[in-house]
Amino acid sequence: MQIIYEVEITLIEYYRKGTENCYPVIEVCPSCFSRQPLLRHGFYWRYALLLKRSYLLPILRLKCPCCEQTFSLLPDFLLPFYQTPVKLILEYLKRYWHDRRTAVYYQRLQFYRRRFLKNLNLMEAFFRKLGHRDIIPRMLKGKAIKLLDMVNAFPKAETFARRYHDHFQQSFMAI
Ligand SMILES: [Zn+2]
Repeated sequence: MQIIYEVEITLIEYYRKGTENCYPVIEVCPSCFSRQPLLRHGFYWRYALLLKRSYLLPILRLKCPCCEQTFSLLPDFLLPFYQTPVKLILEYLKRYWHDRRTAVYYQRLQFYRRRFLKNLNLMEAFFRKLGHRDIIPRMLKGKAIKLLDMVNAFPKAETFARRYHDHFQQSFMAI
């Protein structure tokens, strides 16, 4: 299970600090809700891709002392199962739909586009839950562009992604 937490630093700063990063203490187990802080349970390493360079980042693992479920603590600039940071993925989609310019390889862009389209209905539900009353077009492309604009209206892409994940327990780019 993944827990996404808010980080104030950039991906590169996180990379530089390595395992010396500050990690929040999770006081309540998200699985069994016991009120014993989750224990540190080592790290695993995963790549993050920023433009032309990849960075190997440590991800802290946690374990519940009661139910023994393990969790990984993912900084909010990343999405589960994606190497490209959330901000960059949204930037690529925005350029694709608004400017018709492609900043990444066509295949990768199509992959992002398909995943984004797959999650439109849940995204709409998420915004309705937040109280948004905007008219959202029914046609696929119009709907995608409108929802992308709503996502981009968040002060930070990371905040949207984190809150969405907290709500649905999956990312807005999930399969
Ligand atoms: Zn537990």
